[in-house]
Amino acid sequence: MSTTPMQVSEARRFQQLKGHLSYLKLNDAAEALNRVLDQARTERMSLTAALERLLEIEVEATEARRLAARLRFACLPEPWTLSDFDFAAQPGVDEKLIRDLATLRFLDDASNVLFVGPPGVGKTMLSVALGRAAVEAGHRVYFTTAADLAARCHKAALEGRWKTCMNFFAGPKLLVVDELGYLPLPEDGASALFQVINQRYLKSSTILTTNVGIADWAGAFGDATVAAAMLDRLLHRAAVAGIDGPSYRLRGHQNHAENLRAGVNSRAS
Ligand code: ADP
Ligand code: MG
Repeated sequence: MSTTPMQVSEARRFQQLKGHLSYLKLNDAAEALNRVLDQARTERMSLTAALERLLEIEVEATEARRLAARLRFACLPEPWTLSDFDFAAQPGVDEKLIRDLATLRFLDDASNVLFVGPPGVGKTMLSVALGRAAVEAGHRVYFTTAADLAARCHKAALEGRWKTCMNFFAGPKLLVVDELGYLPLPEDGASALFQVINQRYLKSSTILTTNVGIADWAGAFGDATVAAAMLDRLLHRAAVAGIDGPSYRLRGHQNHAENLRAGVNSRAS
């Protein structure tokens, strides 16, 4: 079968167009080019519609890559979202407040969020879910624990990288600091956390989870002045969610224990 000059130049033009897309690193568009052109021919799409379809493919792929990169950066320990949270199982949680936080309006005015409550009540889950929502909305989020933050700052100080470390923790639009108070922070740890909170103050939001009631912070930090200064910055603009309901983790064990007891009782009677 012979090819006409017309087909040859069309084929060359196609290769050149594909080359342009690749040169501009629009690789997903380059890969989809053939398919979109076929679709444009069979569906008699306008030139505008075909171009829009082609670039839409590239935009969607770029968005997906950026989302994946933000998620990797965020270091969220679990894939939890708010839809995984069972509000009925945790009467201690103010659902209205959580739903309001999930709109992420608190990020706009750099408000903080404190989850206070005993272990197992869902503090980490809620902060991960809010972090996830913020990542999906396009924000830079970073999740850490108070102990890790303290250790990282301590190491940075020893290695002469204090400023870089502080800049790192100042960067994310949302910083989640989990488990404050579970482990005693060394003195330089409390001071590092204070400096992180202080430099983010009124600029970007921090979510903090703790098992220590606010009234007891002075005792938990050893240094009452640092504790008071930290609370001052944190609470100036903040939503405090005290969760005093039952431990979700222990629920399963409790049910199991009740079943065992019921079994024993029914055998005994
Ligand atoms: P905390 O940080 O308060 O100690 P977590 O958030 O780690 O508690 O929750 C403990 C476990 O229980 C996790 O596996 C979490 O997914 C689950 N969990 C807690 N509360 C709920 C809830 N209301 N609905 C669903 N799962 C929950
Ligand atoms: Mg936790």
